[in-house]
Amino acid sequence: STPASGALADQALHVLQHIFGYPAFRGRQGEIVSHVAGGGDALVLMPTGGGKSLCYQIPALLRHGVGIVISPLIALMQDQVETLTQAGVKAAYLNSTLDFSTVQQIERQLFTGELDMLYIAPERLMTDRSWSLLDRLEETGKLALFAIDEAHCVSQWGHDFRPEYLQLSALHERYPAVPRIALTATADHATRDEMIARLGLGEARVFVSSFDRPNIRYTVVEKDTPKRQLLAFLSGRRKEYGVEAGIIYCLSRKKVEETAEWLSGEGFAALPYHAGLGTEVRAANQRRFLREDGLIMVATIAFGMGIDKPDVRFVAHLDLPKSLEAYYQETGRAGRDGEPAEAWMTYGLQDVVLQRSRIDDSTAPEEQKRLEAQKLNALLAYCETPRCRRVVLLDYFGEASQPCGNCDVCLDPPTLWDGTDAARKLLSAAYRTGQRFGATHLIDVVRGKANPKIKEYGHDQLPTFGVGKDLDEAVWKSVARQLVAGGYLRAELAEHGALKLTEAARPVLKGERTVEMRRATVRAKSSSSGSGS
Ligand code: ADP
Ligand code: ZN
Repeated sequence: STPASGALADQALHVLQHIFGYPAFRGRQGEIVSHVAGGGDALVLMPTGGGKSLCYQIPALLRHGVGIVISPLIALMQDQVETLTQAGVKAAYLNSTLDFSTVQQIERQLFTGELDMLYIAPERLMTDRSWSLLDRLEETGKLALFAIDEAHCVSQWGHDFRPEYLQLSALHERYPAVPRIALTATADHATRDEMIARLGLGEARVFVSSFDRPNIRYTVVEKDTPKRQLLAFLSGRRKEYGVEAGIIYCLSRKKVEETAEWLSGEGFAALPYHAGLGTEVRAANQRRFLREDGLIMVATIAFGMGIDKPDVRFVAHLDLPKSLEAYYQETGRAGRDGEPAEAWMTYGLQDVVLQRSRIDDSTAPEEQKRLEAQKLNALLAYCETPRCRRVVLLDYFGEASQPCGNCDVCLDPPTLWDGTDAARKLLSAAYRTGQRFGATHLIDVVRGKANPKIKEYGHDQLPTFGVGKDLDEAVWKSVARQLVAGGYLRAELAEHGALKLTEAARPVLKGERTVEMRRATVRAKSSSSGSGS
């Protein structure tokens, strides 16, 4: 590298050590800091807890003028400014919580060189008042850089979408000479491309860190009696590690409330969090979770972005997340301090049915539906995988790795079996009953249970009736789930989960294609027998 960049690197290290008090840069931090301090644009993909903040804070200090940090999270802004101020950095924020005289004071400081860094909410940036501030700063050469935090908020298909983020491309058009650094912990390629396109980062250098979180143990259990399973999980951890902080994600607000209440009754300190709770209750619960020890937050995905609590020991999913990157984000809130932590999820047929129908029944454009279906497939493949979960997860982010020894598959490998025959029986039962029935009924048919419903429809007269007596009900459930997950059967939510054959089912029925299945993800009860089936 050139002498100039060497000098920059030295200065950067000096700031790191003397202002932030850390001996060395982590991962690619040093490279990123030098690149941005030298005037380059950057897109930084780094997992939560990886140390993104320093990547723009140090360049902002090294460059002349004020670094403008766009952040969607008001609470996080305040934390960051507080921490910076304690370190002796001149930082402030502008957001809706400030009174007018404070705003005026901060604006004055911008021009008197009393500020190195200004945090600002995107909606505030988009006001005439802010633009004219920036114009004046630029005219006097006082714009050090723009940092766009949580840059994935520009993705219209992600659940953190912020419309104001779409307008951030204006920064580049208006101030082409000011370097920009966009940062996110979201790593999938679709979002990456979207960020580059929408933020005008075509020329930016992309820095991708490893997304592995080796201290997190991944476990997926087959949903059987979810409450009991959750309780067993929580009690097991408590017995081994004592009272711990954790997050439990549920899909619906109702389930959040029920679960929090039920857990409280079971002796766990649990709080609810969802968007329907009212700002004050939400803020109060979040504050308690952050400040007190050993609380469990039961939440919808409304809870999480920017939650900086280092000692969250587990993240549990009672329902399937929307995608593998959502899962990665949500589980990534565990173990930010680097100590062992656990990501635990229950997963069942109903989850697959629900998520599939959510996509099928949506009125979104075909293109988006296709993308969402792909994302769901990747997630289902993760749930059903006979391979190391970490390998599958990292592979999704384009990162090759070796089996980890720290996930349920590595620790207790499932066996594979040839499920072709079972698949044919269940597919044929769906076909012969007119594709109007759900999994429970079809399983009763193949298992030969002559219950009243079966008799009413005359399904005890079908050739498939009772052909699957050799396998027990749990196995059949897992067969049904794997057939839906694998796209052989499609569930119609509008018809109470009626299972319909897809094109992919045809070659299986005709004996042209085999279907490999994993024997029970489940250690359904406990793993006392060790076989797990
Ligand atoms: P992110 O925004 O990527 O989630 P942060 O910037 O909040 O991560 O950093 C996570 C933690 O790591 C913080 O406590 C931060 O002080 C610490 N950290 C960051 N960089 C370093 C470093 N080079 N050496 C030691 N600690 C670091
Ligand atoms: Zn593994």
